[in-house]
Amino acid sequence: MSEINIEEIKVELSEWIQENWDPDVTVSEWWKRLSDGSWSATSLPVEAGGRGWSRVQSAAVMSTLFAHDVVGPPTGLGVMLAAPTIAIHGNEDQIERLIPPILDGSVAWCQLFSEPGAGSDLAGLQTRAVKDGDEWIITGQKVWTSGGHIAEKGMLIARTDVDAPKHQGITYFAFDMDQPGVEVRPLREMTGRALFNEVFIDEARVSNADLIGGIGNGWAVANTTLMVERSSLGSGGPQPVSVPAGVKAGKLLGNRLGTKVGDHVLPDDGRMESDGGRGLDVRWLSDLAQKIGSANDPVVRQEIVKLHILGEVNRLNMLRAKAGGSKTGAEGNLAKLAMSELVRRSRDVGNLIIGADGMLSSSASSFDGRVQEATIFSPAPSIYGGTDQVQRNIVGERVLGLPKEPGPNKETPFKELLQN
Ligand SMILES: Cc1cc2nc3c(=O)[nH]c(=O)nc-3n(C[C@H](O)[C@H](O)[C@H](O)COP(=O)(O)OP(=O)(O)OC[C@H]3O[C@@H](n4cnc5c(N)ncnc54)[C@H](O)[C@@H]3O)c2cc1C
Repeated sequence: MSEINIEEIKVELSEWIQENWDPDVTVSEWWKRLSDGSWSATSLPVEAGGRGWSRVQSAAVMSTLFAHDVVGPPTGLGVMLAAPTIAIHGNEDQIERLIPPILDGSVAWCQLFSEPGAGSDLAGLQTRAVKDGDEWIITGQKVWTSGGHIAEKGMLIARTDVDAPKHQGITYFAFDMDQPGVEVRPLREMTGRALFNEVFIDEARVSNADLIGGIGNGWAVANTTLMVERSSLGSGGPQPVSVPAGVKAGKLLGNRLGTKVGDHVLPDDGRMESDGGRGLDVRWLSDLAQKIGSANDPVVRQEIVKLHILGEVNRLNMLRAKAGGSKTGAEGNLAKLAMSELVRRSRDVGNLIIGADGMLSSSASSFDGRVQEATIFSPAPSIYGGTDQVQRNIVGERVLGLPKEPGPNKETPFKELLQN
């Protein structure tokens, strides 16, 4: 881990911004500059385009970008999950080929893990990958694929060996979404949005060169993705899906990659609308309470403070873990649990503040419908990235050493297990 301190980071980046920021260049050009300067994902190792910096150091990068009113690097599942996973498990060719287009926002990724019969029991997945010369033929169905409709690449896990035990016959691929045999169908949520999709895969192909981490090693690779996902979601505070800087990755910007980057700078307190709608953070809630005159209500005050304390405890806990403090191995799980609790509490505090207005549909609301949106989205964070119950199971079994859930012998070949 680099020894550079926060002040040095701020100085180096501020100088770099002076030389490189130009509101008149396109979003793609700006992201290319950030990526070429190794500012897009500083927590990645140097050989993967990062700087090997800690979460604290990387947070200083984001806050410096904010302070200079410039657009941040691309976000999305590519930067959040695919790049760190490939950096750990990919070979040299994959790191060089797959990571740069993530860091400059030119290629967006989705996560092709869950299936109709394999969510919490992810290792029970049925999608098959069959070797055909230098390629693999993929057939199966994925579901809840966030951003699948706009992604060019997918982190795909598929079964390559039905004779091996459940967790051992799985392989991880970097999969092209835009090819014959891949059909993406949007699923509309109760929020009215279509954040996720069903993905039907019928004899689509993936090159052997895009197999990540070795044949049959997909469960270990997928666990890296899941671990990174929990930690990232958990450190995002009460926002449903934290968007750390002004704009989103790849096609998530629609056709705006070619637009002037200066047009996407947010105001100081601006947080971009995330895929889950606009979240409710403590500052926004306390401003709302002041605006509508309930800030002196002792119950409202108390609930806002409780929310703030829980958020701070989670934030500090994550910092402590990342700074090398004592680790239990469950930091990511605990942070994810805290995040879903924060989302529920912020929903409740929002509704406490707006009272009966919360029963109105968002367009009829006097407070622009943000609390209503957050209320309808609030069940999601306790499900995605592994449900709350699954996080607790992991903590119970792997950290506290409680007995494992009853189930078939781990060595039983997959094909002999009861299938959904
Ligand atoms: C907004 C959103 C976005 C998502 N995005 C993606 C994505 O991009 N890619 C992707 O692959 N997946 C995605 N998912 C899917 C998500 O990971 C799964 O929904 C989740 O893992 C749960 O799986 P399931 O829906 O099949 O529920 P199930 O596994 O069927 O679980 C149903 C219920 O049973 C409980 N349960 C199951 N097993 C146990 C157990 N052993 N002990 C105790 N309780 C248990 C669960 O906690 C849950 O309450 C997303 C989900 C949501 C809500």
